[in-house]
Amino acid sequence: MKIKIGTRGSKLALIQTETVCDKLRQAYPEHTFEIEIISTKGDVVQNRPLHEIGGSGLFVREIEQKLLQDEIQLGVHSMKDMPAVLPEGLVFAKAWPREDPRDALILRETPSLQELPQGAVIGTGSKRRAFQLLALRPDLRIVNLRGNVDTRLRKMEEQKLDGIVLAAAGLHRLGLQQRITQYLEPAQMIPSPTQGFLALECRRENTGLLQMLQAFSEENAETTAQAERAFLREIGADCHMPVGALCTPQNGAFRLDALYGREDGSRLARASVTGSDPQRLAAQAARRIRSQLAGTVCLVSGGPGDSELVTVKGLRQIREADCILYDRLSPAELPTLAKPQCEKIFVGKQNAHPSMRQDAINRLLIAKAMQYDKVVRLKGGDAYVFGRGGEEALALREAGVPFSVIPGVSSATAGLACAGIPITHRGIASGFHVLTAHGQTDALADIDFDALAKSRETCVFLMGLSKVGEITQRLLQAGMDGQTAAAVISCAATPRQRVCTADLQHLAKAVEAACLPSPALIVVGGVVRLRDKLNFFEKQPLFGKRCLVPKIGTRPAPLAQKLRACGAEVQEVTVGEIVQIPAALSAEKLQAVRWILFTSRNGIDAFFASLQAAGLDSRSLANTKIAVIGHSTGRHLRQYGLHPDLTAETANSSSLCQTLGRVLSLSDTVWYPKAAQADHSIRDVLATFCHFEELPIYENRPVPPKEFDPTFAASCEAVFFTCASSAKRVLQALGHVPAAWGTQTTVVSIGPKCSAALRQCGVASILEADSASPDAMVKALLAQQKLQ
Ligand code: SAH
Repeated sequence: MKIKIGTRGSKLALIQTETVCDKLRQAYPEHTFEIEIISTKGDVVQNRPLHEIGGSGLFVREIEQKLLQDEIQLGVHSMKDMPAVLPEGLVFAKAWPREDPRDALILRETPSLQELPQGAVIGTGSKRRAFQLLALRPDLRIVNLRGNVDTRLRKMEEQKLDGIVLAAAGLHRLGLQQRITQYLEPAQMIPSPTQGFLALECRRENTGLLQMLQAFSEENAETTAQAERAFLREIGADCHMPVGALCTPQNGAFRLDALYGREDGSRLARASVTGSDPQRLAAQAARRIRSQLAGTVCLVSGGPGDSELVTVKGLRQIREADCILYDRLSPAELPTLAKPQCEKIFVGKQNAHPSMRQDAINRLLIAKAMQYDKVVRLKGGDAYVFGRGGEEALALREAGVPFSVIPGVSSATAGLACAGIPITHRGIASGFHVLTAHGQTDALADIDFDALAKSRETCVFLMGLSKVGEITQRLLQAGMDGQTAAAVISCAATPRQRVCTADLQHLAKAVEAACLPSPALIVVGGVVRLRDKLNFFEKQPLFGKRCLVPKIGTRPAPLAQKLRACGAEVQEVTVGEIVQIPAALSAEKLQAVRWILFTSRNGIDAFFASLQAAGLDSRSLANTKIAVIGHSTGRHLRQYGLHPDLTAETANSSSLCQTLGRVLSLSDTVWYPKAAQADHSIRDVLATFCHFEELPIYENRPVPPKEFDPTFAASCEAVFFTCASSAKRVLQALGHVPAAWGTQTTVVSIGPKCSAALRQCGVASILEADSASPDAMVKALLAQQKLQ
């Protein structure tokens, strides 16, 4: 039989393969063995760090392909280059004895690591080596170095590096042991998992070849290789992470030393465990490492749909999170309240149809906990009410990841309250049952309907919308009165809340006719009748009205909050961002300024940022009076500890000019910190009364409206413009004025300038607020609603 052996073409790879080949030839002279050199991506791309070009598997993929196609029968690799999981159908033969697993330091001129001068430069492409070296000698400078052994030795000379780190095994195999200055003992540097082992890879079904290879294997070697590879799998490391493992026989058992760290090296953890089962050793070591390194995972109950129904404690966790995993049932606004740099991951779970399997979510939670200090798993309703929160917590505990749970408002009770149904009521229901209608499979859960039919308590079914017919049927069969009041509450606690009530025997038909979407609750019991009197939610003045709020910046818009508080469904869309332009301020310059005008919060923030940058504070404004355009700008100024000396009578620029014009004299210097692109209307009026200077101090830069939904914009009930620039940008994004604007859609403008911009864009019918504030805009819309 002819056996083709595939290998990379590097000198080391060839020597390794030739050793294997020689052994096989000697032992099995009846077969022929032939070496085939295969070029891999790792060999071709030489100039970038490994983790940037595709990581583990880089030196093996092409070889594995040929194995799978039986073009070659055996692949010989350095085992440490092998990914944690092999492609289906390929296996390793049992491990042959190991070469020296240690790392070795080659120094150009110095005799030892300790004697390297301060700030010496060491070349390595491995984060594991780099971070462990830095732990020993924090002063060293590490530079990225790649290539085979010869290349690295050459680069060390050419680049005058003080030293490099290489695997001792490779140097030994190449006969270069005399170049080694110092071996790095495992206590100083834990080697890469399986460093020093050869991987002999072939197809699983090639049992003949496997048997031939096995003859050279060694039991202890196999156990240690297994333990180290199992650790790699357990910890879920990819090549971005510094990871190391070394298993050694010890007193008849094995000891596994493992290392894992954050990608940026900010934290490194080690663990040593002893035992005899390689899988258990790996699991134990991974668990210990996680408990040192992992941040905490907090299961936060997001509430049933309204983002304000999260708890204060939950909100704090969201604000502080480095990473949030959320799904469809958690209120959509909540992740937007996180820090800008927070990683947000949608794990798309809806009812019983998870788009990400639960075990995948569990694994992701554990992986993210290793990456970040604070991970939030945001769940709909209460984390432990049917949300599989308990399973997630158990998986975290199992993995050694610290976790906490923030209980919250469950749809099971709050959903009823929002529908005007008290879950208990004296004389009607003295308790309640909350059940899931969903069993382990798609079938109806195993519910004791007889007991429910007899009880006089309220029954609430979650995850039951598609089974409402079956549920009501079973209750009726169990003897419940067909006239019992019942309801289905869809999208409870949201502006899309819809409730369908009927008596038990007619509920299924009524729900079908109403086409209610999920999520939904089924409620059965006399308390449902109280809804006629207690339904407050759907009576909110803007309940269910869809409103578009274009805004500048990503922070939640106060206007949007106010609209939501009236029951509206609000889409916020960012159309611009504020970029401050530093102004060169000095105490001398400010001394000469008699008045400063502020017409926006942004102007105030940018001005005080410049003041601070100049090393000044508000004392340098002691001789300066301050005028503001309106009360909300005045309130903002007070946050800086200053009271406005003058506020325009009505919040617009002509009123400001009039009010100010009365007190100015020609010798006064007036500063106006403003948006760079804002018009000069104030200057044009006031420049004749004083020495007027504009201070372009911030810019309202357009940003492409990412979350913009043109269909929503064209069909919603109201759209609110709070500045001329957002009016222009939204209309530009739309391309035309939607037909419904002015008829079904009310276009609300904050004031004359904004209305002028809207008119310029072709919007004819505009509802203008009588003063420039979110409250006035809401009031204008409410007044118009009343008229209709
Ligand atoms: N932990 C959640 C429940 C998760 S199970 C909680 O405490 O609320 C998912 C089920 O919850 C849905 O099938 C539905 O029955 C119910 N549900 C969640 N949010 C809801 C909402 N806003 N309106 C109606 N039902 C809701």
